[in-house]
Amino acid sequence: MSDTRPAAKLIDGKRISSEVRAEWKVRADRLCALVATPGLTVIMVGENPASGLYVRNKLRACEEMGIRSELRLYPADTPEQTVLESIRALNADPTCHGILVQLPLPPQISVRHALEAISPDKDVDGFHLYNVGGLITGETVFPPCTPYGVMMLLDRTGIPVTGQNVTIVGASNIVGKPMGLMFLQREATVAICHVKTRDLTQYTIAADILVVAAGQPNLVTGPMVRTGAVVIDVGINRLPDGSLIGDVDFDSVSRKASYITPVPGGVGPMTVTMLLCNTVAAAERSYAQLKAA
Ligand code: NDP
Repeated sequence: MSDTRPAAKLIDGKRISSEVRAEWKVRADRLCALVATPGLTVIMVGENPASGLYVRNKLRACEEMGIRSELRLYPADTPEQTVLESIRALNADPTCHGILVQLPLPPQISVRHALEAISPDKDVDGFHLYNVGGLITGETVFPPCTPYGVMMLLDRTGIPVTGQNVTIVGASNIVGKPMGLMFLQREATVAICHVKTRDLTQYTIAADILVVAAGQPNLVTGPMVRTGAVVIDVGINRLPDGSLIGDVDFDSVSRKASYITPVPGGVGPMTVTMLLCNTVAAAERSYAQLKAA
């Protein structure tokens, strides 16, 4: 007998992303008309093909939003000092509002040194320790883009967060951990799972909202998900045939969940969108400070 249970509703990241971009474009245009164009500089060291693709996407998205963007591409053997000096010069440049260091970096450059060199006021990726620490108190200047995008997807879909049981699979510094802090700030009850978690299912099955960011194709399957749960798949895994899949087995999980994000077209578009929002917000703050001075 075929399964007649209704499939989960799709959370359409492309549509929500377009809406958010249109709203923020109005703010970017207003800044351009009143004071100056918001500016983002991307620093990339070495030519990693995957990073190159991400960077080109970000630069194209900037152009569409009316943000002036610049790529500073350094050879793979560039010394750390050169990159740090470039970041410090950008910190002092009033036409640059956001600085992004594209990861990964070659081994001679410490990721920590590079990220800490960025002024917290221009740290539009939200990876500086100041911004990471601000997530604890709810006073971060720039929320990190992927978790910020997940929150935006939930809010724009009208899914309540307060008081919900949230499980996050994945505890990385850029997704899982900040995601957990953002949910806690919104008064959800949070479990963060990682490789050493014993019996993953006991956590996933308890979740009203399940966020999966492990980088493991089809890690979460239908029997691991509570009926009616909201499932957000952050994972991006490229198969040998070139297609992309997430960390969630879409077929089995979409029969249990009430809402689910597709891959591609779910969280991915939101990450770039939130970078654009953070850059426009940085420019707005910079001009508000100039006006107040
Ligand atoms: P990392 O590899 O840095 O972290 C993966 C996390 O998942 C780690 O905490 C790891 O645990 C945990 N993990 C791995 N396997 C398991 C498992 N079997 N059970 C439980 N936990 C597990 O990855 P990222 O956080 O950078 O990215 C995660 C995924 O999200 C990737 O597919 C990436 O491509 C994607 N991504 C998507 C973005 C988007 O815009 N859609 C943006 C950023 C990332 P431990 O800490 O113990 O090693």
